[in-house]
Amino acid sequence: MNRRYRKTIIAGNWKMNKTASEAKAFLEELKAQVGRVKWCEVVVCVPFVNIPMARRVLKDCRIAVGAQNVHHEQSGAYTGEVSAEMLKDLGVKYVIIGHSERRQYFGETDALVNRKVHAALNAGLRPIVCVGESLEQREAGITNELVTMQVKAALAGVTVDKVRQIVFAYEPIWAIGTGKTATAEQANEICELIRATIRKIYGARIARAITIQYGGSMNAKNAFELLAQPDVDGGLIGGASLKVPDFTAIVNAANQE
Ligand code: PEP
Repeated sequence: MNRRYRKTIIAGNWKMNKTASEAKAFLEELKAQVGRVKWCEVVVCVPFVNIPMARRVLKDCRIAVGAQNVHHEQSGAYTGEVSAEMLKDLGVKYVIIGHSERRQYFGETDALVNRKVHAALNAGLRPIVCVGESLEQREAGITNELVTMQVKAALAGVTVDKVRQIVFAYEPIWAIGTGKTATAEQANEICELIRATIRKIYGARIARAITIQYGGSMNAKNAFELLAQPDVDGGLIGGASLKVPDFTAIVNAANQE
């Protein structure tokens, strides 16, 4: 973390979990635990159907609501999809884009990720753009090349005035939901690479100001060490964001003055 230049953001990705009643009880408890934290931003990326309720429960605290996906067009005949404008209208602040599960199970490409980034930015949402390599890609030694390419593709056509709204999440696919975590050094190395890629396009001042999270089996035990790395500015948390004590412990690890 480097609080001098950028915000630390801890975001929970609930994926397809929790009914509305389960979510309400969870959020009331979470609000009591971390609703007033000062030194980091806390976000819960809930399923679409839970967004209005989440906004109601969290309206008088500092926890922001995020979505897990968005369509790239503004409106139209796209059955089952949700636009950036619809999310913005509900008070959503962040949206996860290009999660590896979306890339893997729903065929999302770098080009589509870029279109979604533009849609989100145009509607005033902050994209959390996920990048990261599979185990085969890491073993083949192409992690740096791949992540650099994903970052450049996501940023294509994004102007200097809008790029600061973007958050990147380095999520090695082999660490997601597997209980295997990247070492603090591995996480920092790739977060640093992402920042260097941004620096080459937009310059040092902007690169310094961008929040870059790590995601992949972050939990109450390893959060402190990962967040202590200079280029790791927060976490995108899956499994551990579904339990109040675990998520609270991660937020507390990030909420350092
Ligand atoms: C994720 O899905 O973004 C994630 C990081 O999941 P987990 O924390 O469960 O590995």
